[in-house]
Amino acid sequence: MQCIVNRRAQFSASHRYWLPELSEVENVQRFGLCTRAPGHGHNYVLFVSIAGEVDEYGMVQNLSEVKQVIKQEITSHLDFSYLNDVWLEFQQTLPTTENIARVIWQRLLPYLPLVRVQLFEHPELWADYQGNGMEAYLTISTHFSAAHRLAHPSLSYEENCEIYGKCARPNGHGHNYHLEVTVKGEIDPRTGMIVDLGALQKVIEDRVVEPFDHTFLNKDIAHFAKVVPTAENIALHISSLLKSPIRELGAELHKVKLIESPNNSCEVLETILNNSDIPTTLPHLLSSKT
Ligand SMILES: [Zn+2]
Ligand SMILES: [Zn+2]
Repeated sequence: MQCIVNRRAQFSASHRYWLPELSEVENVQRFGLCTRAPGHGHNYVLFVSIAGEVDEYGMVQNLSEVKQVIKQEITSHLDFSYLNDVWLEFQQTLPTTENIARVIWQRLLPYLPLVRVQLFEHPELWADYQGNGMEAYLTISTHFSAAHRLAHPSLSYEENCEIYGKCARPNGHGHNYHLEVTVKGEIDPRTGMIVDLGALQKVIEDRVVEPFDHTFLNKDIAHFAKVVPTAENIALHISSLLKSPIRELGAELHKVKLIESPNNSCEVLETILNNSDIPTTLPHLLSSKT
């Protein structure tokens, strides 16, 4: 039986985004506050995922070996370091979250049967790297608060109560929605970035968070005048709002995850939605309702 095993590690390190071949104005234009000397730091959290057959001792690989390899090859170098100088790779390509994840993969691959390296710069920004050349994923987590009511316009109040339960009550109720947007792209060999992070944050803010926050979705967002604002329909709508602006930034929307409550979340995977080879019977929404 194949299993995936995840091991967590952490390190604190500083970095600075600055390319000597660019002028100061150009550096500031591209990297904003991240250009400030001598740099700034993060408490990085690393998840290393390995896969394989379970051996006679009940393990994919001895976890104390995994822990030792991560310490020896990664955290003993990076913890309390200035990333730009610590490894040659970061002189060629800036130590962005996605590029650090890629380089960690390269350095661990001789020792571990890797399937994923996930690196959190902080709880609201993380990168995933799966060994596919310069391809990486970047996720931004954000939130908005909104009210909604679940009721199909063509049904009676009683019928709606039957389908949607308490969510059909006439005056609505609210949630603090958590939203995770994952984009996929190619790491630029010099800047280390798959996308301009500031521009991506602005797209999510301008297209979703600002218009959705502190609204009654059914009344304030035109799309939900006729479409019932379930977590599924909100996630699908967010996905359609973000898709082309993210493409204009040079990346692809990969996933929208909308967490409505600790018990209920919905994921829309763009790659599955757009893949005509996948049978239409395959549920493209993964949702769990209480
Ligand atoms: Zn930083
Ligand atoms: Zn609700």
